[in-house]
Amino acid sequence: MFSTELIEAKRDGREVPADEIRRFIFGITAGKVPDYQASALLMAAYINGLSDRETIALTQAMRDSGTVLSWPSSAGFLADKHSTGGVGDKISLILAPLAASMGIKVPMISGRSLGHTGGTLDKLESIPGLRVDLSLEEFQDQVNDIGVAMIGQTGQLAPADSKLYALRDSTGTIPSIPLICASILSKKLAEGVDHIVFDVKTGSGAFMRSYESAELLAKKLIKVSCELGCSASALITRMSIPIGIMTGNLLEVKESLKILDGGGPADTIELVVQLTSRMFLASGKGNLNKNEVMEMCRRNLKNGKARKVFEDMISRQGGDLDAFSRLPTAPVRLSVRSPRSGYLTGVDAGALGESIRELGGGRYRMEDRIDPAVGWESASISGVKVKTGEVIGWIHASKKSDAQKAAKHIINTLIWDREPEPIIIGEL
Ligand code: URA
Repeated sequence: MFSTELIEAKRDGREVPADEIRRFIFGITAGKVPDYQASALLMAAYINGLSDRETIALTQAMRDSGTVLSWPSSAGFLADKHSTGGVGDKISLILAPLAASMGIKVPMISGRSLGHTGGTLDKLESIPGLRVDLSLEEFQDQVNDIGVAMIGQTGQLAPADSKLYALRDSTGTIPSIPLICASILSKKLAEGVDHIVFDVKTGSGAFMRSYESAELLAKKLIKVSCELGCSASALITRMSIPIGIMTGNLLEVKESLKILDGGGPADTIELVVQLTSRMFLASGKGNLNKNEVMEMCRRNLKNGKARKVFEDMISRQGGDLDAFSRLPTAPVRLSVRSPRSGYLTGVDAGALGESIRELGGGRYRMEDRIDPAVGWESASISGVKVKTGEVIGWIHASKKSDAQKAAKHIINTLIWDREPEPIIIGEL
């Protein structure tokens, strides 16, 4: 089948054989299929969808377009978590060292901020000196030695995804469940892990706004992972309000350290514990039940074991936590006061994500520089009674005018008079 015939088949809604998809993807990676043909196929797939067989073939070909890591049997059980992206989502920073402290190996390849959502790499890079560009050899050595490493995507892993993602971004073909599924999994499966737990977010701050679309994506991610030899599970979680108290790159690292020191907000701890326990349970280690594993997670957050692994990981990757603790806060810390009295459900996650992006904490284009210090610090957890004029939080900004603009936006989009949903809405 020539590329043109393959595009025509997908345009007309016919199923394309797996080996033809593979040839096309390898052609894209080798630069033999021009961008206009790749874009045409993406649009045909976006409009007509992909069958499960096609999604599996696409994912497999994208995974195999680069290096797929393999691990010695002495490495033990390897697992990772993937979040579909949210606001205040610092979970990876806590979960990865916590899982490693329980004997799970976590080779985590993370992303940067995307749209209004934050990115783990940007958060990590607020720690002075920290490298997220380890070579694959350094990455694997570190995982073997201390159980965890967190890096960014390298050109060697799933290079077809980098090409296709850039084309999707400029051709309006991002929001397609099979394309999202293949994109996420091509990178995660290239890590060579035994299990992936997906944190699929739903709500105003998520890419999947409705529960139904989040569930559809979660089911597809699990099915394709399992078909390609990696067991998987998923939680569908709340993203109508941000996770925790702090949102913003540096603020989220601070909050993560608080949790690794045994404190921190209950919603964040709950999500970390639920996701980490799934990674551990999948390993079958110790024959423990779910409650016992969750208890072990909570214990390792309190007794400093997870914190120690975090410190080892940061220093091995060149980061300086003492220098981090001395970093100045943003020049402006503006109090935001409640415009009314009542039951404040929370700050709208989507609106907050946009405000932080405008403050400089996120990107509009991939080359934009991030200001790590900007963000939002809530005065309390979500779901509290407040009085008119009471301080409900602080905007951290580089300029007063920026902070005032963000405050106005946040005040206008507060959610009132509803019990917050639980942080875990569904389990698959
Ligand atoms: N994250 C990815 O890696 N790919 C997508 O397509 C969407 C989110």
